[in-house]
This record gives sequence, structure tokens and C-alpha cells, in this order.
Amino acid sequence: MKETKSTCPYCGVGCGVIIQSEGDQITGVRGDPEHPANFGRLCTKGSTLHLTASAAVTRRARLLQPMLRAQRGDKPVHTDWDTALDLAADRFHAIVQEHGPDAVGFYLSGQLLTEDYYVFNKLAKGLLGTNNVDTNSRLCMSSAVAGYKMTLGADAPPNCYDDVNHADCIFIVGSNTAFAHPVLFRRIEEARAARPQMKIIFCDPRRTDTAELADLYLPVQPGTDVMLFHGLLHIMLWEGWTRPDYIAAHTTGFDALKAVVRECTPERVAQTCGIAKEDLFTAARWFATSPATLSLYCQGLNQSANGTAKSAALINLHLACGQIGKPGAGPFSLTGQPNAMGGREVGGLANLLSAHRDLANPQHRAEVAALWGVPSVPKQPGKTAVEMFQAAADGEIRALWIACTNPAQSMPDQATVRRALQRAEFVVVQEAFATTATCEYADLLLPATTWGEKEGTVTNSERRISRVRAAVPAPGSARHDWSTAVGFARRMQVRLVRHERLFDYSTPEQIWLEHRESTRGRDLDITGLSYAQLEAAPQQWPFPEGATAGRARLYEDGSFPTADGKARFAPVQYVPVAEPRESRYPFSLTTGRLRDQWHGMSRTGTLGRLFGHVPEPAVQLHPQDMERRQLQDGDLVHVTSRRGSIVLPAQASTELGLNQAFIAMHWGPEYLSGVSSTGEPLAGVNALTTSAYCPSSKQPELKHAAVKILKA
Ligand code: SF4
Repeated sequence: MKETKSTCPYCGVGCGVIIQSEGDQITGVRGDPEHPANFGRLCTKGSTLHLTASAAVTRRARLLQPMLRAQRGDKPVHTDWDTALDLAADRFHAIVQEHGPDAVGFYLSGQLLTEDYYVFNKLAKGLLGTNNVDTNSRLCMSSAVAGYKMTLGADAPPNCYDDVNHADCIFIVGSNTAFAHPVLFRRIEEARAARPQMKIIFCDPRRTDTAELADLYLPVQPGTDVMLFHGLLHIMLWEGWTRPDYIAAHTTGFDALKAVVRECTPERVAQTCGIAKEDLFTAARWFATSPATLSLYCQGLNQSANGTAKSAALINLHLACGQIGKPGAGPFSLTGQPNAMGGREVGGLANLLSAHRDLANPQHRAEVAALWGVPSVPKQPGKTAVEMFQAAADGEIRALWIACTNPAQSMPDQATVRRALQRAEFVVVQEAFATTATCEYADLLLPATTWGEKEGTVTNSERRISRVRAAVPAPGSARHDWSTAVGFARRMQVRLVRHERLFDYSTPEQIWLEHRESTRGRDLDITGLSYAQLEAAPQQWPFPEGATAGRARLYEDGSFPTADGKARFAPVQYVPVAEPRESRYPFSLTTGRLRDQWHGMSRTGTLGRLFGHVPEPAVQLHPQDMERRQLQDGDLVHVTSRRGSIVLPAQASTELGLNQAFIAMHWGPEYLSGVSSTGEPLAGVNALTTSAYCPSSKQPELKHAAVKILKA
């Protein structure tokens, strides 16, 4: 038996794993006791990874050969790689020639490795001349990114997991950490057991399992977080709990923020947010006066049409109380996916460039063009996720390349997304699994390697870069994602008659070394790292040349990466949800994760044992709402929004408030069918969700839609 160290491919905790294999077969997995993210622990998903790589699952669910569809609706037939990539290059080239480079788009994934991301980004922005590169990280973290940049000056989570051991107060907001980041939650439980005096505040519309650990639960009404955070600051100011010395020395803009929060009185906040006044005072006191307060936040803040404001308003609290830049304190965004951070590092979003450079900055564009050896990088911002599919539905984007993600299930407003996939002239889907809903729309299917078969790096929520390593060879003729992108890019170079040596890579390490050089002098400088060092021990950035260790936490000197070195308070306004509930649609629908499933279930859905916790979809409702509608557990109901309708069993849950409904995000067409408002077949909860998005981050409001619920 061989043992290979690697990283779990699921959530942003980024646990180290040791893969056991015999010959071509993965036979087991265990937690890596030396990995600083998990010290040997794994959750149910991580500990069953080897079963998702069994020969039976590979035969049943994997895409193993390139497949071509002569016409939409036909069964795809096998083809070879050369034919497949030549065809892709011909079709993309023809569309670029006729309609310009912005007529194509690349939709990527926070589950790709940093090296994969890097090549796609360079291919689109450096070779083809379009910034139409966005990823499912847009649905996950873009509000956190925009919030950090707006206030602290850079997209850099300032904390590390060890901060839970130093915090005196942990404020968990918009995160069901117990399910979404289970190994981190264990750490919080242990820290609490070791230091029982630690206070835990949990703030979320749903009283999830995470609430079990809380001393104080704040049942915030959906979408009202900015009002809550401003209200807490109002109380802190009134009670003299802020830190005027820290504010004066290290920040700007506090007076403008004070003017905004003046209106957010405890009475108004209590009424808007649905939280008792005395609980507001307790939360404000614990947050402000504890020696160290750590906030942990996730999609409950990010997936909102006001997501950037929510994120910034939370960071305002940390700055106002000096709760940042010291052990156990700071605003710590938890990434949903294993490599949403790495994607941002290489600039894999429509508004970013390599190494946290901004597309809007001419000097940054020139630096990236010089690094890549291309004449220029286009300045026109690319289309973000929702915009990209809207543009395809409108006929503006004519070719889509989708890698390692399943937008036909995971994007909001499925009716529009499916219209986009149908209307696009050419759709390439690069995937490890043949079972995703998006595969149905592909003209060309390109088989990809996945966990246990790939080499590269990922970065977890605490800025820690870990190696991902192959234990077994690729099955069938699956190829590594970076290698497929390189094969396509070289063919495009020939057709575009471009002679630069842009894609001379034969190993992922060569790509990573180019990425490493792009970080020199930047906030995420990793020029002091190598693949060999990362194999020995995962490291946090920054790690510049000459450094002997990465930095565990940022801003300890009170200096921020802004023009004047000071953090900026953000006088953001509270804006209600995009689609408030009203008499025709009287329920607030929210979405979230189950404990044992991952995203669209392409991997976890292959294992029967992962259905033991929750075997089938259901819409959860408050018991009184069930009673009012004369519903019993298991009764089928139509859940309908302005965009579509699905049918599923109702289930009473005391986790929810009145007039709220919850449906897990994972269930796809096999489990949960529905129809659009115009009668087309749809599937999953995103038949209902809205594509309204935050104007700053462009992250859609997946956490709230107004729905009605009627007995079927
Ligand atoms: Fe994988 Fe996240 Fe579970 Fe760790 S906590 S084993 S990274 S899913």
C-alpha cells in the first residue's frame, strides 16, 4: 500500500488527508495528523472520500472519454482528444473572428487548483483578449472580497484558525459552521471546553446546529444584518465601548459612519431585525469589551444583494473596537470551497488580475501584460457569473467553456441559465463527472481528473497553501484541467497567428512558479516558497523571499494596505432584501447546506451512506406555519416564486422563524423537479431563487427569495 499526502477537495477548511492506494486504486483515506488545518481530523465527507473514488463509482459516474454531440438533444458519442480540442479551437476562433473576443466566456470553479485557474485566466485575458472569466466563487465569496477591499484595503482574511484558541468572544454570523466547516467547528468546541468563560454569539435567521454552542442566539430577520451591525455600533458608542485611540491612530472616515449609525437606535434595530433589545446590548457589550473578539462569517452575509455592505458593516465593528490585528480578534470570512482563495490569488474573476491586481488600474494591467509577455490586457471588465449567463441568454455571448462546475443546477434563476445554455452556439463542459445537469447542454464534453489524480496547490480560508497530490493515474483518457486548457490555448495561438511562448508548460509546478513570480512585492508575496517546502508543510501567505515563516495574522502593526496606511470605515446603508415577502409570496425562502452533502452532489451523491442524515429533499417550515396551512410532516407542497415552482414534502422545524422556509441547496434533477413560470422543466431550489445581485460584488442573493407554499 502506498500513502500520499494531499488535501480534501470539499470545503474551505482545507483539511490535510493521507490517501492510501494500491496500484491504480484508492483504497482508503485518513486525516493528516501534521496538517495545521485539521491535525488529523476529518468530517463525514472527508472521511468517505476514498469511497467516492471506487472502481464502481468511476464506472458509473465518471466522464472517461471526450464526447461530442452532433446536435443538441442527441446522445454524445466518443471522440479523441485531438479531434475534440481542434473542434473547440475552430469554433471559438470562428466566433472570436466574427463577433470579437467578448463573444466567448469561461465559467470556472473554486474547486479548480490554482495552476488550473492560472492557465485559464491567462488564456482568456492574455491570449484571447477578453475578461469574460468568472467562477462559481462569485456565488461564494465575492462580497467578502469587496468588503475587505473597501475597508482594509486588500482581499486578505486577517486571521488564522488558531485564533479560535485565543478568542474571548466568537461572533458567528451567517454561517452554519457545524455543517459547512465541521472540522473548524470541532476546534471551536474544544477551545470552548478549554476556556469555558469564552462567549459565543450566534446570529442567523435559522437556529441551526451551530446555535447549540452559543451563549446568545440572535434570530436576525433575513437580510437585515447591516441594520444589526449599525445598531450594535450605535450602542457601543452610546455606552463608551469603542476604542477612540485605535480609531484615531489607524482609521479614517469614522465621523461619516457615526452619522449613519445615529439613526439605528436599539428600538428601530429591534423592530427591523426581530431581536430583543436586551440581547442587542449583551451582544454589543461582549463584542466590544471582550479582550479579543473573532467574527466568523460565510454565505449568510455574502449571498445577498447587499452583501458587500454587510461584510463592511461587520468589519466596521472590529475597527471601532480595535478588535483586529491581535491574537483571537478580527473579521474572518470562511470560504465555502477548497480553492476560492487560490482563484482570487491568480485573478480568476472578471474584475481581477494576477496577484490581487485590479483590472481597472492601468499600471496593474501593464504589469500583468509584461509578466505574461503579451502586448496588453483588455481593460473592459468581463461579465460576472450572473451577467455572463444573462449575456448568453441574450445572444451576446455565443460560446461558453464551463469547467468543474454545474451552473445548470447551482446558479440562481435557473430558467435564465438554461435559456443561456440552450441559446449558446457552442458549449464546452470540462468535467470529472458525467452526471451533472450541465453535461446535458454540452456540445463537447472533456473528461477531467479529480481528487486523488491531480497535482497542484490550493489555498484555504486562513491563507494557507497546501499541496494537492496524485495517488493514482488518471482513469480512462481524463486529463488534468491545466493540461486541457494548455492544449486548447496552443491551438488558439496557431489560429490567431500569435507567436509568443505563452503556454510552454509541461508540469503544474512550472505554472505555479510563474504565478509565484507574479506575486513579488504584492500583499500575497509567496516568492519565498517552493513546491518542495509546501510538500513538507503547508504555509500561509505572505511568505516573501528570505522569510522563514508565513504570517499567521495580518495588521498586527496597525498598518493597512491603503494609500495612507489606515483602514477605512465604510458608511454603508441598510437596504432591505431585493424581493421582500408580501401577501402573494408570504414566505422568506432561504437555502443552505446539509451536513453530509456537497454542492450539486456529483461526488457525495454517489454514496448511499451520505444520505443517512437527510435522505430526501424537504421544505422546512415553522410548526405554526404548518398548522396554519393544515400541513402534516410529509405532505407534498408546491413552493412557488415569481420564477418557478417545485414540489416537495413539507417538514416542521423549530430551527426557523415564522414566515420562513428552508430548502437545502444540493438536490438536483434526480431528486427535485420543477417548472419555470412559463412551464419549462427545471430542477432544484434554484428554480425559485432570484438573480438580483450586490451592486459592488455582483454576488447574487441566493439566501433570500419570496415564495408561496400551497398544498399539492
Ligand atoms: Fe473536508 Fe471540510 Fe470536512 Fe475538512 S471540514 S474534511 S476540508 S469537508
